[in-house]
Amino acid sequence: MDNWQELAEFLIEKRVAPQGITDRRILEAMKAIPRHYFIPPGLQKYSYEDIPLAIGEEQTISQPFIVAKMTELLALKEGDKVLEIGTGSGYQAAILAEMGMQVTTVERIETLALRAREVLRQLSYNILSIIGDGRNGYPDNSPYQGIIVTAGAPKIEEAWLDQLADQGRLVVPLNTEIGICRLCVIQKKKAGEKITYQKTWHDYCRFVPLLPGVKNKTRMQN
Ligand code: SAH
Repeated sequence: MDNWQELAEFLIEKRVAPQGITDRRILEAMKAIPRHYFIPPGLQKYSYEDIPLAIGEEQTISQPFIVAKMTELLALKEGDKVLEIGTGSGYQAAILAEMGMQVTTVERIETLALRAREVLRQLSYNILSIIGDGRNGYPDNSPYQGIIVTAGAPKIEEAWLDQLADQGRLVVPLNTEIGICRLCVIQKKKAGEKITYQKTWHDYCRFVPLLPGVKNKTRMQN
C-alpha cells in the first residue's frame, strides 16, 4: 500500500478530527502509523476508512474515531505510564507509544498478542506485551497515569482503581442496559489518606466484550 500516508492524512484530517478531536498530538501520531499493518491481508483495503474491522478470533480493531476519542479522554503527558487492557491488533498501543507514553498492554488471546508483538516490533515500538486476564490489571508496573480498557466491561474492577496514580484516569466502555457501551472516565484524587473518584460519561460505542480468563495457558513476555 504505497499511498497509505495520503490515505491516513485524509482519514485523520477529514474524518476523525471533524468529529471533535482537537488534541494535535493524537492526530499527528495517528497519521504517522500505518494502520494497514494491524489488519489481516484480505481487509487491508479498508484500513483508512473510519470503521472497525475484524482481526480474527472474533475480535476487532476499533474505529479510528473511538481510538482517538479514548486517547483524548486519557489526557496523558509525554512519559506517562499507561496500561491498556485488550491489545487486540496493537494499534491503540502503537498510538500511545508514538505519543511518548510508557505502554504496558494485556491481551487474553495468545495468538492475537503474538501477532501484535510482531507488528509492534517491526515498527520499532518498545511496548511491554502481557498475555493475561486484564481484569486484574498489571500491578507490577503500577501506578499508572492512565488505564484504557478497549473491551466492553460489565463493571469497574477494583484492580484498575487500585493501580491508578493520584490524578490518573481510567477510560472504560461500560455495558449499558440498551445493549451498547458508553465511555466512562474515572479520575482518582488523593487528599492525604482520603481517596475520591470523579466519574464522567461520554460517547456511546460498540465493543467486543471483556471476557474472563486467558485463552491459552502459556504466559510469555517480551
Ligand atoms: N485495542 C485493540 C482493540 C481491542 S478488541 C486494538 O487497538 O486493536 C478487544 C480485545 O480485548 C480483544 O483482543 C480481546 O481478546 C481482548 N480482551 C477481552 N477480554 C480481555 C481480558 N479480560 N483481558 C485482556 N484482554 C481481553
